[in-house]
Amino acid sequence: MEGAAPPEILRFALATWPKTAISTAFGPEGCALIHMAIGIRPDIPVFTVDTGWLFQESIDLRQKFVEKYGIRLTVLEGQTPLIAQDKLHGPRLFERDTDLCCALRKVEPTDRALDGLDAWIAGLRRDQGKSRAGIDLFERYEHKGAPLVKVNPLATWTRKDTWDYLLKNEVPYNALLDQGYKSIGCWPCTAAVGEGGDERGGRWGGRKEECGIHTFMARKT
Ligand code: SF4
Repeated sequence: MEGAAPPEILRFALATWPKTAISTAFGPEGCALIHMAIGIRPDIPVFTVDTGWLFQESIDLRQKFVEKYGIRLTVLEGQTPLIAQDKLHGPRLFERDTDLCCALRKVEPTDRALDGLDAWIAGLRRDQGKSRAGIDLFERYEHKGAPLVKVNPLATWTRKDTWDYLLKNEVPYNALLDQGYKSIGCWPCTAAVGEGGDERGGRWGGRKEECGIHTFMARKT
């Protein structure tokens, strides 16, 4: 379906894999995807991870989606509460080991949320950076012994495509995106980059590009 419009890809995915959910951190792409998907299947499950270190603006945005669109949202938290993480690994783990912190706070709950699904939909774009340049529209994985497809309907979109969609359809987006932020995660690991800045350059001080959610599944088949 290379070259197909995202709604067409979504329609195909939802017709092919009944147990499908959207995974999002409510970035601009996730907001566009949710808006598109609920136009096809209004009750599509959406899940997001709350690490305990989200910006208030991100929490406000997910609430706005629930109120405006009535989305079926599940907010996941890591099995290790922050207080236990502090006891085990010391406070402010993000200052010493971002890989472990992301594994506990983001990857573990996401891995659990994928149990029992046929497919999950994510808002990655190829032009977001090196780590995403090679993504396919559909990727096959094995998840805990079961087949699982990851769908990237926006793979061929540019940043401008995303913003054109959001503005044309009056889809809510994170207020921080109007304040020099281009990609938003946890507040300790996210900085504004300004208009000319690299799209993901404000994440982890440029030390890494991915939290692990989109790279942890080594069992790609
Ligand atoms: S983005 Fe930073 S604070 Fe958030 S889980 Fe990863 S290391 Fe921890």
